[in-house]
Amino acid sequence: MRVLFATLLLAGSALSAGAAEKIKVLVIDGQNNHNWQQTTPVLKKLLEGTDRFTVEVATSPPANKKEEMEKFRPELAKFDVVVSNYNGQPWGKALNDDFEKLLKDGKIGFVVVHAANNAFGGWKEYNQMIGMGWRGKTGGDRLFLNDEGKAQTVKSGEGDGSGHRYTGPFAVTVRDGDHPVTKGMPMEWQHVRDELYDNMRGPIENVKVLATAFSKGTKVHEPMIWTVSYGKGRVFHTPMGHDANAMRCWGFAGTLTRGTEWAATGAVTLPLPKEFPTAEKASPIPEK
Ligand SMILES: [Zn+2]
Repeated sequence: MRVLFATLLLAGSALSAGAAEKIKVLVIDGQNNHNWQQTTPVLKKLLEGTDRFTVEVATSPPANKKEEMEKFRPELAKFDVVVSNYNGQPWGKALNDDFEKLLKDGKIGFVVVHAANNAFGGWKEYNQMIGMGWRGKTGGDRLFLNDEGKAQTVKSGEGDGSGHRYTGPFAVTVRDGDHPVTKGMPMEWQHVRDELYDNMRGPIENVKVLATAFSKGTKVHEPMIWTVSYGKGRVFHTPMGHDANAMRCWGFAGTLTRGTEWAATGAVTLPLPKEFPTAEKASPIPEK
């Protein structure tokens, strides 16, 4: 009888420490040249819709409130992963320091969505974290893939600055199908209308490109999903997600949710959405 009781106890504790434990996500927004008031609820819904996450939102003070911004210091250590929907003025030094340290030590993961990679051009460590982002032509090297799938580098100062020289629906091509996030994705899938970011620039250190998209604007394959190792921290980065409609895509949803799980834990248990797009057909999420 005692043995049976012990077994039951073990089973109970394994359950509460395992599958039932949700990943704690903090979305940061509050300033963005995009409509963060509309997109944060979509990010939250996509994440919570998987039942794998709990999501809190930290909204920064509005622009030009320097004193309030110095005090803006969400308790990052309470979370497993930060998702940035922020593209605004610099945070205070205390928050920058918290963020750098926790990420570098692998205590939190980081997810960069679309215009979040436009932020903090003058923050050296941020550029290391995101690998590459929306910077002028002198803001670092750029990386693209040629038609043979070979990585090509353009030096800082050469070529064009960052932009979105094509906007519309486009195909995403998986370049590394063995990564936990992309495993099982069709090697090509159709994304709904979005800005196709090109000429992302930065230090490009410890970057792994998982997927690209051919831009009709630049005529090359632009990085569309990538990871960055920042110390012990995992960063997941996608320049997709210009607006709520671009996020209402089962391809974006699968990418975001699995990317967030991976950044938090280093593994992916979430299956791809059953509505995931194919090489032939996009798969918008109905608005409701
Ligand atoms: Zn945009």
